[in-house]
Amino acid sequence: MTIEPRVFSGVQPTGNLHLGNYLGAITRFVALQDSHNCIYCVVDLHAITVWQDPADLRRSIREVTAAFLASGVDAKKHIVFNQSQVAAHAELAWICNCVARMGWLNRMTQFKEKAGKDRENASVGLYAYPDLMAADILVYRATHVPVGEDQKQHLELARDIAHKFNTDFAQTILEEGFFKGFFPLPEPLISGPATRVMSLRDGTKKMSKSDPSDMSRINLSDDAEAIEKKVKKAKTDPEPLPSEEKGLEGRPEADNLVGIYAALSGLAKEAVLRDFGGAQFSKFKNALVELSVEKLGPIGAEMKRLSADPAYIDSVLADGAARAREIADKNMQHVRNIVGFIQS
Ligand code: ATP
Ligand code: MG
Repeated sequence: MTIEPRVFSGVQPTGNLHLGNYLGAITRFVALQDSHNCIYCVVDLHAITVWQDPADLRRSIREVTAAFLASGVDAKKHIVFNQSQVAAHAELAWICNCVARMGWLNRMTQFKEKAGKDRENASVGLYAYPDLMAADILVYRATHVPVGEDQKQHLELARDIAHKFNTDFAQTILEEGFFKGFFPLPEPLISGPATRVMSLRDGTKKMSKSDPSDMSRINLSDDAEAIEKKVKKAKTDPEPLPSEEKGLEGRPEADNLVGIYAALSGLAKEAVLRDFGGAQFSKFKNALVELSVEKLGPIGAEMKRLSADPAYIDSVLADGAARAREIADKNMQHVRNIVGFIQS
């Protein structure tokens, strides 16, 4: 039985969606729609690994959905839904918890970063997060996962879990009629010019929803004035821009701003530097403000328009969840047989 290619990816409904999410993930989601069947998920079960105010969580779920739609995700041709509406994610996550090894999870750098010094006080969910992420992907037997660079390690873990499951249950997988293992090993798609957009305040730290400083990121909901303020205050160094990419080495803030300009304009960094090489940051920042407002303004406006109609957003999620559930439930029936559960 051959497995048809399927794309899965998710975004957490936590805080503010930013330029990194947009360039590293959402623009990739849109690009894959022509060639693949795609499932895009608002991963609310992941969000609660850190405490969320319930009213804020509801608002964020709708905001991420609005951002998908405003950026060009087609919820009719593809599937858009919030994770908690499909119980199979949580069910398969438990099985993934039992397949994954403590040693594997102990190596995850995201947990170390997010738990910080107070590890004893982090939720068990934050620790087990990568197992749920593996389940999100595997429950659809997805083959391709577009993500930013920061998710590479979690994708490797998902592959390890898929491989161990296929090995541990090889006999019953065959009996269930699958001759090449049950789960495909999902491939990360980490591509494009902005797989790791950095903080505007510190070029060595990734731009992140959970950064306490709002000045560190450009939010998709920022208006022109906020974008201008943030870009103009972005950290730089005293040198003018170089004329070649090599000259960006050791200059993380300059590299980041040039990368953002390249990604938003669809040009290579080399081409951006041909135009701006030798220029002062003040001139380059003016151009970057103009480009950012031109590209992000319409998305922010459309997000606002969609957010004014929560009932519509909820109906998109309900429709997507029903279609996702159908695929996931069918796969879970096989999984239960493979593991040795009795179902009626
Ligand atoms: P948090 O800080 O709460 O983890 P986040 O900004 O990392 O939030 P996620 O919802 O965890 O956002 O990630 C959604 C997608 O966006 C993932 O594919 C992730 O790899 C991608 N992504 C997140 N930050 C960046 C970034 N700075 N540059 C490129 N891609 C990013
Ligand atoms: Mg993240």
